[in-house]
Amino acid sequence: MGIVSTIEDALTGRTEKSADESGPESTGAYWCDDCGVRIRDVEVAAEGLDHDDEGTPQCPDCGDAMRFERSHADGCAC
Ligand SMILES: [Zn+2]
Repeated sequence: MGIVSTIEDALTGRTEKSADESGPESTGAYWCDDCGVRIRDVEVAAEGLDHDDEGTPQCPDCGDAMRFERSHADGCAC
């Protein structure tokens, strides 16, 4: 019986979706061009990245300062 109920649980739509849509607004993402690492600004804290003297997040792989790129969603160039 234990196995059956486990399967039922799996089939009854108990999917724990991480609600990306309702997450905090992101204004852009930090890139490390060398490593191809991309981390959204709202995820920097969650990733626990170090920051350099200017407050720029540092690449978790190589430790270089990352390049900020604004998302195109609010890309007003005014
Ligand atoms: Zn890197």
